[in-house]
Amino acid sequence: TTSIVWIRNDLRLGDNIALKEAVNHLREEDELLLLFHIHPELVRDFDLQQDYFFQTVKVFNETSGPLHFIYGEEEEAFHSLFEVVTDAGDIYFNKAETGFGKKRDERVLALLEDKGIRVHTYIDHPLHGAEEVTKKDGGLYQVFSPYFKQWQKLPKPGMQQVDRDKLSRHLTDRTEEFSSGGEKYNQLTKKPLRDWQEVGEEAALQRLAAFLDEPVYYYDEDRDIPSKDGTSLMSRYLRTGAISPRTVYHRVMQDTDGRKRQDGVESFIRELAFRDFYHMVYYNHPEAGDQELTEKFRGIPWNEDEEIFERWKRGETGFPFIDAAMKQLNETGWMHNRARMAVASFLTKDLLIDWRKGERYFHQKLADYEAASNIGGWQWAASTGTDAVPYFRVFNPVRQSERFDPHGEYIKAWIPALADVPKTYIHEPHKMPGEEQKKAGCIIGEDYPEPMVDHKRMRERAIEVYKQRKD
Ligand code: FAD
Repeated sequence: TTSIVWIRNDLRLGDNIALKEAVNHLREEDELLLLFHIHPELVRDFDLQQDYFFQTVKVFNETSGPLHFIYGEEEEAFHSLFEVVTDAGDIYFNKAETGFGKKRDERVLALLEDKGIRVHTYIDHPLHGAEEVTKKDGGLYQVFSPYFKQWQKLPKPGMQQVDRDKLSRHLTDRTEEFSSGGEKYNQLTKKPLRDWQEVGEEAALQRLAAFLDEPVYYYDEDRDIPSKDGTSLMSRYLRTGAISPRTVYHRVMQDTDGRKRQDGVESFIRELAFRDFYHMVYYNHPEAGDQELTEKFRGIPWNEDEEIFERWKRGETGFPFIDAAMKQLNETGWMHNRARMAVASFLTKDLLIDWRKGERYFHQKLADYEAASNIGGWQWAASTGTDAVPYFRVFNPVRQSERFDPHGEYIKAWIPALADVPKTYIHEPHKMPGEEQKKAGCIIGEDYPEPMVDHKRMRERAIEVYKQRKD
């Protein structure tokens, strides 16, 4: 009999629950086939996000595979699988609890049941599943602080090591029979959009080790400075599943136990809990990607001007901190958290553009795109989430810049036109006198734009618009 492990956003061999379970249950005569379903929805609008994901698929396929690719809508794709694998007995996978993945899993479950295949599913993507952290009455939390208190109290699930020897003894290679899915995979992975340096399980473990060596102890202070390499960069690996949140959690706890200052460690663990929190919120509110969770803020008259939106996307707003952040995103597929908060606030409050548009743009570009965290982050910034920034607390893009990039290092790293602008003007280059502009080789209006809006006015307008909905 053939057992199938359906690999998805869990592209690793280490600490993978579905894989471990499948291997444990293999009998001597069984074969194990690793499956990957390329759903057309996954590769629509192919951009940096999808590109990074499929480069991780490629690394997995080459180092830990082979994967057997099927392509198409659920019915068509699984039909092609069962044409080839006629003796399938069991299928194992780490199920999706939210979003598109959840709907897809439900559709496929119905197909598998019809076929009489035994299905084994697990929760592997969050550290604590959506229904694990609950209030005393069993209800789910809306606010992070009490959620986090409860989260901390729960024992953490241990790492689930896969029996690698047994796995390799049973792993089957029938890739030649999966030629159409294989072709699609080749098309998607042949020419990456950029030269990604950090891809896959090995890279994830190395990066984690480097982070635990020193930066984790200063994380509480450094995490807000975008010019510093002060954060873990685990998000892209967690998103693709190149590393599991259990591994991150336990490595952190073991490596830092009793060593140096703990403030950084505690602050880092809190962020891992944030990932679970947003996962739970999205599970509890499946409509969150389309609709404001705060009812009174539905129906805000957003600005529909596409040219304004385009300028934000390209990083041509005239606010250096915002522009640097957008360039970092467009060029690397990642943006620092402090900068994400600033650009999201700028889009929704200063430009009064619909947060859904920003969410979708991040979806296209972010290598670490997680629907739950992204929607959570955007609804937070737009003041429409369950535990969001109050609508009257609007980020000042110049203040953010002065506080978190005081020397303009982040700005200069991403905006070459501002490289020689003196520190006095780096946060507001349009205030440079003509002489200074010439000296810095940066003529405002030519080399770098004037600010596209007056922040003070826009802040008042946004507060007014939100207030009207509230009353
Ligand atoms: P670290 O600072 O090292 O944090 C460690 C881990 O904790 C991260 O890898 C991540 O898994 C988790 N984490 C940290 N902050 C958050 C947070 N605010 N919410 C949820 N999890 C968090 N994160 C994503 O993983 N995917 C997204 O699509 C995403 N979109 C965002 C959109 C907006 C508007 C905002 C404000 C934040 C978003 N975040 C998202 C959260 C955060 O910006 C990233 O997780 C973080 O920048 C990733 O870098 P890192 O791995 O170095 O993080």
